[in-house]
Amino acid sequence: MSDTSTLGPVRVRYAPSPTGDPHVGNLRTALLNWVFARHAGGQFIVRIEDTDRERMVDGAEDRILEALKWLGLDWDEGPGVGGPYAPYVQSERKALGVYAEAARQLIDNGHAYECTCTPERLDQVRQQQRAKKKPTGYDGYCRNKSADELAAEKAGGLASVVRFKVPLEGEVVFNDVLRGPLTFDPSLLQDFVILKSDGYPTYHLAHIVDDHEMGITHVLRSEEWISSTPRHMMMYEGFGWEPPAFVHLSILLGPDRSKLSKRHGDTALLEFRDKGFLPGTMFNFLSLLGWSAGDDEEVMTREQIVEKFSLDGLNSAPSIFDITKLEWMNGVYLRQLPVETLAEMLIPELEARDGLPESIARPLDRDYVTSLVPLVHERLKVVDRAELSEMLSYFFQDEIDLDPAEVVQKGMDEAVTASALESAALALESAESFEAEPLEEQFRALCVELDLKPRQLFGALRVSLTARKVAPPLFDTMVALGRGRSVDRVRRAAALLSGAGTRERTVS
Ligand code: GLU
Repeated sequence: MSDTSTLGPVRVRYAPSPTGDPHVGNLRTALLNWVFARHAGGQFIVRIEDTDRERMVDGAEDRILEALKWLGLDWDEGPGVGGPYAPYVQSERKALGVYAEAARQLIDNGHAYECTCTPERLDQVRQQQRAKKKPTGYDGYCRNKSADELAAEKAGGLASVVRFKVPLEGEVVFNDVLRGPLTFDPSLLQDFVILKSDGYPTYHLAHIVDDHEMGITHVLRSEEWISSTPRHMMMYEGFGWEPPAFVHLSILLGPDRSKLSKRHGDTALLEFRDKGFLPGTMFNFLSLLGWSAGDDEEVMTREQIVEKFSLDGLNSAPSIFDITKLEWMNGVYLRQLPVETLAEMLIPELEARDGLPESIARPLDRDYVTSLVPLVHERLKVVDRAELSEMLSYFFQDEIDLDPAEVVQKGMDEAVTASALESAALALESAESFEAEPLEEQFRALCVELDLKPRQLFGALRVSLTARKVAPPLFDTMVALGRGRSVDRVRRAAALLSGAGTRERTVS
Protein backbone atom coordinates (compact mmCIF):
# COMPACT_ATOMS: atom_id res chain seq x y z
CA MET A 1 0.00 0.00 0.00
CA SER A 2 1.33 3.39 -0.81
CA ASP A 3 0.95 6.46 1.27
CA THR A 4 -1.16 9.08 -0.46
CA SER A 5 1.68 11.57 -0.37
CA THR A 6 3.48 9.51 -3.00
CA LEU A 7 0.50 9.37 -5.33
CA GLY A 8 0.19 11.18 -8.61
CA PRO A 9 -2.93 13.15 -9.45
CA VAL A 10 -5.94 11.48 -7.87
CA ARG A 11 -9.27 11.32 -9.68
CA VAL A 12 -12.00 9.39 -7.94
CA ARG A 13 -15.68 9.08 -8.57
CA TYR A 14 -18.92 8.36 -6.82
CA ALA A 15 -21.18 6.57 -9.26
CA PRO A 16 -24.61 6.03 -7.75
CA SER A 17 -27.52 4.36 -9.48
CA PRO A 18 -30.77 6.26 -8.90
CA THR A 19 -32.65 3.18 -7.81
CA GLY A 20 -33.91 4.33 -4.42
CA ASP A 21 -33.38 6.59 -1.45
CA PRO A 22 -29.62 6.91 -0.93
CA HIS A 23 -28.41 4.44 1.67
CA VAL A 24 -25.93 5.30 4.41
CA GLY A 25 -23.51 2.68 3.07
CA ASN A 26 -23.63 4.26 -0.33
CA LEU A 27 -22.94 7.71 1.06
CA ARG A 28 -20.09 6.28 3.14
CA THR A 29 -18.53 5.27 -0.18
CA ALA A 30 -19.09 8.77 -1.56
CA LEU A 31 -17.61 10.31 1.56
CA LEU A 32 -14.42 8.25 1.60
CA ASN A 33 -13.89 9.03 -2.08
CA TRP A 34 -14.39 12.72 -1.35
CA VAL A 35 -12.05 12.68 1.65
CA PHE A 36 -9.40 10.87 -0.38
CA ALA A 37 -9.69 13.37 -3.23
CA ARG A 38 -9.51 16.36 -0.89
CA HIS A 39 -6.58 14.88 1.02
CA ALA A 40 -4.65 14.23 -2.16
CA GLY A 41 -5.60 17.54 -3.78
CA GLY A 42 -7.33 15.57 -6.53
CA GLN A 43 -10.78 15.61 -8.09
CA PHE A 44 -14.03 14.11 -6.90
CA ILE A 45 -16.42 13.29 -9.71
CA VAL A 46 -20.09 12.39 -9.49
CA ARG A 47 -21.51 10.24 -12.25
CA ILE A 48 -25.08 9.05 -12.40
CA GLU A 49 -25.35 5.43 -13.50
CA ASP A 50 -28.88 5.17 -14.80
CA THR A 51 -28.57 2.43 -17.37
CA ASP A 52 -30.76 -0.07 -15.56
CA ARG A 53 -33.95 1.60 -16.69
CA GLU A 54 -36.24 -0.87 -14.96
CA ARG A 55 -34.83 -0.18 -11.52
CA MET A 56 -34.94 3.62 -11.84
CA VAL A 57 -36.91 5.40 -9.14
CA ASP A 58 -38.41 8.83 -9.72
CA GLY A 59 -36.72 11.52 -7.70
CA ALA A 60 -33.85 9.27 -6.57
CA GLU A 61 -31.21 11.26 -8.43
CA ASP A 62 -32.34 14.47 -6.74
CA ARG A 63 -32.27 12.78 -3.35
CA ILE A 64 -28.73 11.54 -3.99
CA LEU A 65 -27.50 15.00 -4.87
CA GLU A 66 -29.38 16.43 -1.90
CA ALA A 67 -27.67 13.93 0.40
CA LEU A 68 -24.25 14.83 -1.00
CA LYS A 69 -24.91 18.51 -0.48
CA TRP A 70 -26.21 17.99 3.02
CA LEU A 71 -23.01 16.15 3.94
CA GLY A 72 -20.98 18.90 2.32
CA LEU A 73 -19.48 16.63 -0.34
CA ASP A 74 -19.01 19.06 -3.19
CA TRP A 75 -18.03 17.64 -6.54
CA ASP A 76 -15.54 19.01 -9.03
CA GLU A 77 -17.23 17.46 -12.04
CA GLY A 78 -20.69 16.03 -12.45
CA PRO A 79 -24.38 16.90 -12.65
CA GLY A 80 -25.07 20.60 -12.33
CA VAL A 81 -21.35 21.37 -12.37
CA GLY A 82 -20.26 20.05 -15.75
CA GLY A 83 -16.64 19.31 -16.52
CA PRO A 84 -14.33 18.25 -19.31
CA TYR A 85 -15.97 14.83 -19.67
CA ALA A 86 -19.60 15.94 -19.64
CA PRO A 87 -22.22 14.62 -19.71
CA TYR A 88 -21.91 12.79 -16.40
CA VAL A 89 -25.21 10.95 -16.66
CA GLN A 90 -24.91 7.62 -18.41
CA SER A 91 -28.23 7.76 -20.25
CA GLU A 92 -27.02 11.00 -21.83
CA ARG A 93 -23.71 9.40 -22.71
CA LYS A 94 -25.56 6.49 -24.23
CA ALA A 95 -27.45 8.92 -26.47
CA LEU A 96 -24.07 10.11 -27.75
CA GLY A 97 -23.19 6.55 -28.76
CA VAL A 98 -20.35 6.22 -26.23
CA TYR A 99 -21.12 2.65 -25.18
CA ALA A 100 -22.21 1.27 -28.55
CA GLU A 101 -18.91 2.46 -29.92
CA ALA A 102 -16.98 0.78 -27.11
CA ALA A 103 -18.91 -2.48 -27.60
CA ARG A 104 -18.13 -2.29 -31.31
CA GLN A 105 -14.44 -1.91 -30.46
CA LEU A 106 -14.55 -5.14 -28.44
CA ILE A 107 -16.39 -6.97 -31.22
CA ASP A 108 -13.86 -5.77 -33.74
CA ASN A 109 -10.89 -6.89 -31.70
CA GLY A 110 -12.41 -10.29 -31.00
CA HIS A 111 -13.32 -9.82 -27.32
CA ALA A 112 -17.07 -9.62 -27.74
CA TYR A 113 -19.76 -10.88 -30.08
CA GLU A 114 -23.37 -10.33 -30.91
CA CYS A 115 -25.85 -12.85 -29.63
CA THR A 116 -29.35 -13.38 -30.99
CA CYS A 117 -30.50 -16.04 -28.55
CA THR A 118 -34.13 -15.53 -27.61
CA PRO A 119 -35.29 -15.43 -23.98
CA GLU A 120 -37.04 -18.75 -24.66
CA ARG A 121 -33.81 -20.39 -25.75
CA LEU A 122 -31.92 -19.00 -22.77
CA ASP A 123 -34.60 -20.32 -20.49
CA GLN A 124 -34.41 -23.76 -22.09
CA VAL A 125 -30.64 -23.82 -21.66
CA ARG A 126 -31.01 -22.94 -18.01
CA GLN A 127 -33.54 -25.68 -17.43
CA GLN A 128 -31.28 -28.24 -19.04
CA GLN A 129 -28.35 -27.07 -16.95
CA ARG A 130 -30.43 -27.36 -13.83
CA ALA A 131 -31.58 -30.86 -14.76
CA LYS A 132 -27.95 -31.87 -15.14
CA LYS A 133 -27.09 -30.08 -11.90
CA LYS A 134 -24.67 -27.83 -13.73
CA PRO A 135 -24.11 -24.14 -12.99
CA THR A 136 -26.59 -22.08 -15.00
CA GLY A 137 -25.53 -19.44 -17.48
CA TYR A 138 -25.03 -18.71 -21.12
CA ASP A 139 -23.68 -21.66 -23.12
CA GLY A 140 -21.79 -19.66 -25.74
CA TYR A 141 -24.11 -20.64 -28.57
CA CYS A 142 -23.51 -17.48 -30.62
CA ARG A 143 -19.81 -17.25 -29.89
CA ASN A 144 -18.70 -18.60 -33.22
CA LYS A 145 -21.61 -17.65 -35.41
CA SER A 146 -20.55 -16.38 -38.82
CA ALA A 147 -21.12 -12.77 -39.76
CA ASP A 148 -23.48 -13.86 -42.56
CA GLU A 149 -25.60 -15.98 -40.28
CA LEU A 150 -25.85 -13.17 -37.80
CA ALA A 151 -26.74 -10.61 -40.46
CA ALA A 152 -29.49 -12.88 -41.77
CA GLU A 153 -30.95 -13.39 -38.31
CA LYS A 154 -30.96 -9.70 -37.61
CA ALA A 155 -32.51 -8.97 -40.99
CA GLY A 156 -35.20 -11.49 -40.06
CA GLY A 157 -36.06 -9.36 -37.02
CA LEU A 158 -34.14 -11.11 -34.23
CA ALA A 159 -32.97 -8.76 -31.50
CA SER A 160 -29.34 -8.95 -30.49
CA VAL A 161 -27.24 -8.23 -27.44
CA VAL A 162 -23.46 -7.96 -27.21
CA ARG A 163 -21.68 -10.44 -24.95
CA PHE A 164 -18.15 -10.33 -23.66
CA LYS A 165 -16.07 -13.35 -24.63
CA VAL A 166 -14.74 -14.73 -21.36
CA PRO A 167 -11.32 -16.32 -21.99
CA LEU A 168 -11.58 -20.10 -21.76
CA GLU A 169 -8.33 -20.49 -19.90
CA GLY A 170 -5.82 -18.65 -17.76
CA GLU A 171 -6.59 -16.88 -14.56
CA VAL A 172 -7.64 -13.41 -13.59
CA VAL A 173 -5.63 -11.65 -10.94
CA PHE A 174 -6.18 -8.22 -9.57
CA ASN A 175 -4.65 -6.35 -6.75
CA ASP A 176 -7.04 -4.98 -4.20
CA VAL A 177 -5.33 -2.15 -2.33
CA LEU A 178 -6.73 -3.38 0.99
CA ARG A 179 -6.63 -7.11 0.41
CA GLY A 180 -3.64 -7.70 -1.83
CA PRO A 181 -3.73 -9.91 -4.94
CA LEU A 182 -6.96 -11.83 -5.55
CA THR A 183 -7.06 -14.66 -8.10
CA PHE A 184 -10.12 -15.94 -9.96
CA ASP A 185 -10.81 -18.78 -12.35
CA PRO A 186 -12.58 -17.32 -15.41
CA SER A 187 -14.02 -20.70 -16.42
CA LEU A 188 -16.54 -20.14 -13.64
CA LEU A 189 -17.88 -17.14 -15.53
CA GLN A 190 -20.06 -17.24 -18.61
CA ASP A 191 -20.03 -14.82 -21.53
CA PHE A 192 -21.93 -11.91 -20.06
CA VAL A 193 -24.01 -9.18 -21.68
CA ILE A 194 -22.35 -5.81 -22.05
CA LEU A 195 -24.85 -4.13 -24.38
CA LYS A 196 -28.54 -4.90 -24.14
CA SER A 197 -30.96 -5.22 -27.05
CA ASP A 198 -32.38 -1.76 -26.31
CA GLY A 199 -28.91 -0.30 -26.86
CA TYR A 200 -28.31 0.39 -23.17
CA PRO A 201 -24.99 -0.81 -21.78
CA THR A 202 -24.91 -2.98 -18.68
CA TYR A 203 -23.19 -1.61 -15.59
CA HIS A 204 -20.07 -3.65 -16.38
CA LEU A 205 -19.46 -1.96 -19.72
CA ALA A 206 -20.69 1.49 -18.87
CA HIS A 207 -18.64 2.09 -15.77
CA ILE A 208 -15.43 0.76 -17.30
CA VAL A 209 -15.76 2.93 -20.35
CA ASP A 210 -16.51 5.97 -18.22
CA ASP A 211 -13.83 5.30 -15.62
CA HIS A 212 -11.34 5.01 -18.45
CA GLU A 213 -12.52 8.05 -20.39
CA MET A 214 -12.78 10.17 -17.28
CA GLY A 215 -9.28 9.30 -16.19
CA ILE A 216 -10.29 7.70 -12.88
CA THR A 217 -7.20 6.64 -10.95
CA HIS A 218 -8.77 4.86 -7.95
CA VAL A 219 -12.05 3.05 -7.59
CA LEU A 220 -13.19 3.08 -3.98
CA ARG A 221 -16.37 1.07 -3.83
CA SER A 222 -18.13 -1.41 -1.62
CA GLU A 223 -16.83 -4.91 -1.08
CA GLU A 224 -19.97 -6.24 -2.79
CA TRP A 225 -18.31 -5.46 -6.11
CA ILE A 226 -15.31 -7.71 -5.57
CA SER A 227 -16.99 -10.65 -7.27
CA SER A 228 -17.66 -8.53 -10.38
CA THR A 229 -14.13 -7.18 -10.59
CA PRO A 230 -12.65 -10.21 -12.45
CA ARG A 231 -15.11 -9.42 -15.27
CA HIS A 232 -13.95 -5.84 -15.21
CA MET A 233 -10.29 -6.84 -15.33
CA MET A 234 -10.95 -9.04 -18.39
CA MET A 235 -12.65 -6.13 -20.08
CA TYR A 236 -9.78 -3.76 -19.34
CA GLU A 237 -7.55 -6.31 -20.94
CA GLY A 238 -9.90 -6.66 -23.89
CA PHE A 239 -9.78 -2.92 -24.45
CA GLY A 240 -6.06 -2.77 -23.85
CA TRP A 241 -6.57 -0.19 -21.11
CA GLU A 242 -4.75 0.26 -17.82
CA PRO A 243 -7.20 -0.48 -14.95
CA PRO A 244 -7.47 1.94 -12.04
CA ALA A 245 -6.44 0.90 -8.51
CA PHE A 246 -9.24 -0.99 -6.77
CA VAL A 247 -10.05 -0.30 -3.16
CA HIS A 248 -13.01 -2.37 -1.98
CA LEU A 249 -14.37 -0.86 1.18
CA SER A 250 -15.53 -2.94 4.11
CA ILE A 251 -19.08 -4.13 4.29
CA LEU A 252 -21.45 -2.48 6.78
CA LEU A 253 -23.14 -4.65 9.38
CA GLY A 254 -25.85 -3.98 11.95
CA PRO A 255 -25.06 -4.40 15.66
CA ASP A 256 -26.09 -8.08 15.39
CA ARG A 257 -23.38 -8.51 12.74
CA SER A 258 -25.81 -9.25 9.92
CA LYS A 259 -25.73 -7.15 6.77
CA LEU A 260 -27.03 -3.65 7.50
CA SER A 261 -30.64 -3.42 6.39
CA LYS A 262 -33.96 -1.76 7.12
CA ARG A 263 -34.40 -4.36 9.85
CA HIS A 264 -31.81 -2.47 11.89
CA GLY A 265 -33.76 0.81 11.66
CA ASP A 266 -33.16 3.74 9.36
CA THR A 267 -30.70 3.17 6.57
CA ALA A 268 -31.57 6.05 4.24
CA LEU A 269 -29.20 8.93 4.83
CA LEU A 270 -31.78 11.69 4.63
CA GLU A 271 -33.88 10.00 7.30
CA PHE A 272 -31.07 10.80 9.71
CA ARG A 273 -31.21 14.43 8.66
CA ASP A 274 -34.97 14.43 9.17
CA LYS A 275 -34.55 12.86 12.59
CA GLY A 276 -32.35 15.72 13.78
CA PHE A 277 -28.82 14.44 13.25
CA LEU A 278 -26.32 17.10 12.29
CA PRO A 279 -24.42 16.87 9.01
CA GLY A 280 -21.13 17.24 10.90
CA THR A 281 -21.97 14.24 13.06
CA MET A 282 -22.98 12.16 10.08
CA PHE A 283 -19.81 13.10 8.23
CA ASN A 284 -17.62 12.17 11.18
CA PHE A 285 -19.53 8.97 11.91
CA LEU A 286 -19.52 7.72 8.31
CA SER A 287 -15.82 8.44 7.91
CA LEU A 288 -15.09 5.99 10.72
CA LEU A 289 -16.92 3.11 9.05
CA GLY A 290 -13.94 1.26 7.66
CA TRP A 291 -11.33 3.93 8.29
CA SER A 292 -9.44 5.13 11.30
CA ALA A 293 -6.91 7.88 11.79
CA GLY A 294 -4.57 5.53 13.59
CA ASP A 295 -4.87 7.47 16.84
CA ASP A 296 -7.71 7.10 19.31
CA GLU A 297 -9.38 10.25 18.16
CA GLU A 298 -12.99 9.70 17.15
CA VAL A 299 -14.52 13.14 17.21
CA MET A 300 -12.87 15.05 14.40
CA THR A 301 -13.74 17.98 12.22
CA ARG A 302 -14.00 17.45 8.51
CA GLU A 303 -10.69 19.29 8.06
CA GLN A 304 -8.97 16.96 10.51
CA ILE A 305 -10.40 13.93 8.76
CA VAL A 306 -9.20 15.18 5.39
CA GLU A 307 -5.79 15.90 6.80
CA LYS A 308 -5.37 12.58 8.58
CA PHE A 309 -6.80 10.42 5.80
CA SER A 310 -4.69 7.80 4.10
CA LEU A 311 -5.53 4.61 2.23
CA ASP A 312 -3.43 2.81 4.85
CA GLY A 313 -6.01 3.73 7.46
CA LEU A 314 -8.73 1.81 5.62
CA ASN A 315 -9.68 -1.52 7.08
CA SER A 316 -11.14 -4.47 5.19
CA ALA A 317 -12.87 -5.96 8.26
CA PRO A 318 -16.65 -5.39 8.40
CA SER A 319 -17.74 -2.18 10.09
CA ILE A 320 -20.62 -2.03 12.51
CA PHE A 321 -23.21 0.69 12.06
CA ASP A 322 -23.85 1.45 15.71
CA ILE A 323 -26.77 3.79 16.19
CA THR A 324 -25.97 4.25 19.89
CA LYS A 325 -22.57 5.57 18.98
CA LEU A 326 -24.11 7.83 16.35
CA GLU A 327 -26.49 9.28 18.94
CA TRP A 328 -23.66 9.79 21.38
CA MET A 329 -21.61 11.54 18.73
CA ASN A 330 -24.52 13.76 17.76
CA GLY A 331 -24.82 14.76 21.40
CA VAL A 332 -21.16 15.74 21.37
CA TYR A 333 -21.71 17.85 18.25
CA LEU A 334 -24.85 19.45 19.64
CA ARG A 335 -23.01 20.44 22.81
CA GLN A 336 -20.31 22.08 20.73
CA LEU A 337 -22.82 24.38 19.08
CA PRO A 338 -23.18 27.90 20.47
CA VAL A 339 -26.41 28.36 22.42
CA GLU A 340 -27.75 30.85 19.87
CA THR A 341 -27.16 28.48 16.96
CA LEU A 342 -28.87 25.67 18.77
CA ALA A 343 -31.80 27.92 19.67
CA GLU A 344 -32.18 28.79 15.98
CA MET A 345 -32.30 25.07 15.22
CA LEU A 346 -34.78 24.27 17.96
CA ILE A 347 -37.26 27.05 17.36
CA PRO A 348 -38.73 25.73 14.08
CA GLU A 349 -39.00 22.26 15.61
CA LEU A 350 -40.80 23.56 18.69
CA GLU A 351 -43.05 25.79 16.60
CA ALA A 352 -43.97 22.99 14.19
CA ARG A 353 -47.50 21.69 14.42
CA ASP A 354 -46.30 18.43 15.93
CA GLY A 355 -43.87 20.26 18.22
CA LEU A 356 -45.16 22.07 21.31
CA PRO A 357 -48.87 21.66 22.18
CA GLU A 358 -51.18 23.75 20.03
CA SER A 359 -52.32 25.81 23.03
CA ILE A 360 -48.88 27.48 23.15
CA ALA A 361 -48.86 30.67 21.09
CA ARG A 362 -46.44 31.02 18.19
CA PRO A 363 -44.08 32.58 17.29
CA LEU A 364 -42.01 31.76 20.34
CA ASP A 365 -39.93 34.39 22.04
CA ARG A 366 -36.45 33.81 20.67
CA ASP A 367 -34.64 35.16 23.72
CA TYR A 368 -36.72 32.99 26.00
CA VAL A 369 -35.91 29.86 23.97
CA THR A 370 -32.24 30.85 23.99
CA SER A 371 -32.36 31.09 27.78
CA LEU A 372 -33.75 27.54 27.94
CA VAL A 373 -31.11 25.95 25.71
CA PRO A 374 -28.48 25.53 28.45
CA LEU A 375 -31.02 23.54 30.42
CA VAL A 376 -31.35 20.83 27.80
CA HIS A 377 -28.01 21.13 26.06
CA GLU A 378 -26.45 18.30 28.05
CA ARG A 379 -29.30 15.92 27.47
CA LEU A 380 -29.85 16.41 23.76
CA LYS A 381 -28.89 13.56 21.47
CA VAL A 382 -30.86 14.56 18.42
CA VAL A 383 -33.05 17.48 17.56
CA ASP A 384 -36.27 15.56 17.81
CA ARG A 385 -39.55 17.45 17.95
CA ALA A 386 -41.42 15.09 20.20
CA GLU A 387 -38.53 14.75 22.61
CA LEU A 388 -37.87 18.48 22.67
CA SER A 389 -41.45 19.26 23.22
CA GLU A 390 -41.57 16.78 26.09
CA MET A 391 -38.44 18.36 27.58
CA LEU A 392 -39.55 21.95 27.27
CA SER A 393 -43.33 22.31 27.03
CA TYR A 394 -43.81 23.24 30.71
CA PHE A 395 -41.64 26.31 30.18
CA PHE A 396 -44.25 27.68 27.81
CA GLN A 397 -47.49 26.43 29.29
CA ASP A 398 -49.75 28.43 31.52
CA GLU A 399 -51.21 25.22 32.80
CA ILE A 400 -49.26 22.15 33.74
CA ASP A 401 -50.87 18.81 34.28
CA LEU A 402 -49.96 18.02 37.85
CA ASP A 403 -50.57 14.79 39.70
CA PRO A 404 -50.50 15.79 43.41
CA ALA A 405 -49.54 12.28 44.42
CA GLU A 406 -46.27 12.71 42.56
CA VAL A 407 -45.42 15.85 44.47
CA VAL A 408 -45.30 13.97 47.76
CA GLN A 409 -41.84 12.52 48.32
CA LYS A 410 -40.71 9.49 50.29
CA GLY A 411 -40.93 10.04 54.03
CA MET A 412 -43.37 12.95 53.68
CA ASP A 413 -47.14 13.14 53.73
CA GLU A 414 -49.49 15.56 52.03
CA ALA A 415 -49.69 17.98 54.93
CA VAL A 416 -45.93 18.13 55.47
CA THR A 417 -45.41 18.58 51.75
CA ALA A 418 -48.02 21.33 51.51
CA SER A 419 -46.52 23.29 54.34
CA ALA A 420 -42.96 22.82 53.03
CA LEU A 421 -44.11 24.13 49.66
CA GLU A 422 -45.75 27.14 51.32
CA SER A 423 -42.43 27.96 53.00
CA ALA A 424 -40.66 27.45 49.68
CA ALA A 425 -43.07 29.84 47.94
CA LEU A 426 -42.32 32.49 50.56
CA ALA A 427 -38.60 31.92 50.12
CA LEU A 428 -38.95 32.33 46.36
CA GLU A 429 -40.93 35.52 46.82
CA SER A 430 -38.41 37.04 49.12
CA ALA A 431 -35.23 35.76 47.47
CA GLU A 432 -32.87 38.65 47.11
CA SER A 433 -31.17 37.41 44.03
CA PHE A 434 -33.12 35.20 41.66
CA GLU A 435 -30.06 33.31 40.39
CA ALA A 436 -29.40 29.57 40.52
CA GLU A 437 -26.54 29.57 43.03
CA PRO A 438 -27.96 31.82 45.74
CA LEU A 439 -31.32 30.07 45.33
CA GLU A 440 -29.70 26.72 45.90
CA GLU A 441 -27.96 28.02 49.02
CA GLN A 442 -31.18 29.45 50.32
CA PHE A 443 -33.09 26.23 49.72
CA ARG A 444 -30.42 24.07 51.31
CA ALA A 445 -30.77 26.23 54.40
CA LEU A 446 -34.54 25.83 54.20
CA CYS A 447 -34.11 22.02 54.20
CA VAL A 448 -32.23 22.27 57.49
CA GLU A 449 -34.87 24.55 58.91
CA LEU A 450 -37.71 22.23 57.91
CA ASP A 451 -35.79 19.10 58.85
CA LEU A 452 -36.11 17.70 55.31
CA LYS A 453 -33.55 16.08 53.13
CA PRO A 454 -32.66 18.05 49.98
CA ARG A 455 -33.90 15.06 48.00
CA GLN A 456 -37.33 15.50 49.59
CA LEU A 457 -37.79 19.23 49.26
CA PHE A 458 -36.12 19.50 45.88
CA GLY A 459 -38.11 16.53 44.58
CA ALA A 460 -41.39 18.11 45.65
CA LEU A 461 -40.37 21.40 44.08
CA ARG A 462 -39.28 19.77 40.85
CA VAL A 463 -42.64 18.07 40.34
CA SER A 464 -44.53 21.21 41.38
CA LEU A 465 -42.67 23.32 38.84
CA THR A 466 -42.49 20.93 35.93
CA ALA A 467 -45.00 18.13 36.51
CA ARG A 468 -42.11 15.78 35.87
CA LYS A 469 -39.85 13.68 38.03
CA VAL A 470 -36.94 14.13 35.68
CA ALA A 471 -36.19 17.67 34.59
CA PRO A 472 -33.21 19.99 34.13
CA PRO A 473 -31.35 21.25 37.21
CA LEU A 474 -33.92 22.60 39.63
CA PHE A 475 -32.57 26.06 40.31
CA ASP A 476 -31.83 26.76 36.67
CA THR A 477 -35.39 25.74 35.96
CA MET A 478 -36.67 28.25 38.53
CA VAL A 479 -34.59 31.00 36.99
CA ALA A 480 -35.83 30.17 33.50
CA LEU A 481 -39.45 30.07 34.62
CA GLY A 482 -39.03 33.36 36.45
CA ARG A 483 -40.01 34.31 39.94
CA GLY A 484 -43.71 34.91 39.33
CA ARG A 485 -44.40 31.64 37.58
CA SER A 486 -42.29 29.66 40.02
CA VAL A 487 -44.09 31.07 43.05
CA ASP A 488 -47.49 30.47 41.47
CA ARG A 489 -46.73 26.86 40.59
CA VAL A 490 -45.34 26.01 44.00
CA ARG A 491 -48.34 27.66 45.73
CA ARG A 492 -50.73 25.91 43.46
CA ALA A 493 -49.19 22.53 44.29
CA ALA A 494 -49.39 23.32 47.99
CA ALA A 495 -53.04 24.28 47.62
CA LEU A 496 -53.80 21.08 45.75
CA LEU A 497 -52.29 19.01 48.49
CA SER A 498 -53.96 20.76 51.34
CA GLY A 499 -57.23 20.98 49.45
CA ALA A 500 -58.72 18.36 47.15
CA GLY A 501 -55.80 16.00 47.13
CA THR A 502 -57.17 14.39 44.02
CA ARG A 503 -55.79 14.71 40.52
CA GLU A 504 -56.78 17.96 38.90
CA ARG A 505 -55.36 20.66 36.79
CA THR A 506 -53.35 23.44 38.31
CA VAL A 507 -53.15 26.87 36.88
CA SER A 508 -49.95 28.68 37.57
N1 GLU B 1 -23.56 2.21 -9.97
C1 GLU B 1 -22.87 1.33 -9.11
C2 GLU B 1 -23.57 1.36 -7.77
O1 GLU B 1 -24.23 2.03 -7.32
C3 GLU B 1 -21.44 1.73 -8.95
C4 GLU B 1 -20.54 0.68 -8.46
C5 GLU B 1 -19.09 1.10 -8.62
O2 GLU B 1 -18.69 1.97 -7.86
O3 GLU B 1 -18.40 0.61 -9.51
O4 GLU B 1 -23.61 0.74 -6.92
